[in-house]
Amino acid sequence: MALIVQKYGGSSVGDADKIKHVAKRVIAAHKAGNQVVVVVSAMGDTTDELLDLAQQVSDNPSPRELDMLLTSGERISMALLSLAINALGAKSRSFTGSQAGIITDEVHGNARIAEVTPGRIREALDEGDIAIVAGFQGFNRESKDITTLGRGGSDTTAVALAAALEADLCEIYSDVDGVYTADPRQIPSAQKLDSIDVESMLELAAAGAKILHIRAVEFARRHKVDLRVRSTFSEDPGTIVYANNQGENMEESVVSGVATDKGQSKIIVVGIPDEPGKAAQLFEVVAEAGANIDMIVQNTSTGIDVTDKVSDISFTLPKGDRAKVVAALEAAQSKIGNREVVWDDEIGKLSVVGAGMRTHSGVSATLFGALAKAGINIEMISTSEIRISVVTDDKQLDDAARAVHTAFGLDSEIEAVVYAGTGR
Ligand code: ADP
Ligand code: ASP
Ligand code: MG
Repeated sequence: MALIVQKYGGSSVGDADKIKHVAKRVIAAHKAGNQVVVVVSAMGDTTDELLDLAQQVSDNPSPRELDMLLTSGERISMALLSLAINALGAKSRSFTGSQAGIITDEVHGNARIAEVTPGRIREALDEGDIAIVAGFQGFNRESKDITTLGRGGSDTTAVALAAALEADLCEIYSDVDGVYTADPRQIPSAQKLDSIDVESMLELAAAGAKILHIRAVEFARRHKVDLRVRSTFSEDPGTIVYANNQGENMEESVVSGVATDKGQSKIIVVGIPDEPGKAAQLFEVVAEAGANIDMIVQNTSTGIDVTDKVSDISFTLPKGDRAKVVAALEAAQSKIGNREVVWDDEIGKLSVVGAGMRTHSGVSATLFGALAKAGINIEMISTSEIRISVVTDDKQLDDAARAVHTAFGLDSEIEAVVYAGTGR
């Protein structure tokens, strides 16, 4: 008997009919002789709607209360799915994250899973029941409070449970047929990948491809859990994300995909004295303000004359962190000795990812050639072993993504299908 963990995203459980459809899929997997654990997200855009409501009653909602509010979305789905399964004559039981043993640190809104103790899930499975678990949430032992795992975090619940239960299969069901060479909502000519290595998937998720939560991919890599990403609404076998050795026989694609991210801002600290220790001071201020930064670029001073013995440092960070970091840098201006702090919220990041970049040359030439031909101005560049990212004006980002997708030969003749969801 195999143990399968299935995760259904918000658009897969968006209304009563979809929940009944999911119930049938789950029962079919159970009837085929498997033990089945199902992780669910909140229905449709519930999480966004709850966040909107919170903003209407409070300018500065407390992170603890926000977590109490948001976790209710997943509880609605878990109970409704269990009811639907029961109504079809199969046995199931639903569990909150804390009942399922998802233990986290105490960071509200972006908690990390510290431990998984799925005793009650095992019990339910041993008694022949289907176990339904509310995604995206956990429990902190010290504060005794409910936490959430960050937007998109139900994927992480599923992978963590699959690792803890040593599941034979972890399936992530969504509103598209798998992982594509680009977001099919943005680039309809994107192609579905049959498989992708976990490292490339990690870079794509980090670069903004929201098909999988980055922490879920990190978990899959660390605990060697293979994932199958597929659609709730078709029988397509989807995409395998290989974390195990089988993937070694795969031919590494030079470029697996293109991802974009409009969620970042850029800050430029202008006129910093060109002397040792200044970058350290600056990033200490940023760290104390509590922001995760992404790209960093420093232009070195030419040092030709005295007025030129200064440099500028630019970096990108999540849009929501921009205001507090600018305030902290302005407060530290006399200590750092810079001239001013400027920022830009209207930027977009475009990334191309591929494990084959390690051994193939010419990727940068193709990328920059395509951007030049499309008339796109590049503001920043950063690279890893298997990724190149550029920052552009956000209004040019979609054009840039299309041009680059075409230049790497990723376009398909067939248009990708998006089965449900609003893409919010
Ligand atoms: P779920 O609610 O099932 O978790 P999400 O909305 O979080 O679904 O993620 C699925 C969406 O991710 C797709 O509808 C698609 O628009 C988007 N997406 C972004 N990049 C990709 C990609 N490379 N491949 C497939 N989908 C992608
Ligand atoms: N419902 C949560 C969100 O919208 C978690 C998830 O869907 O994975 O972010
Ligand atoms: Mg998701």
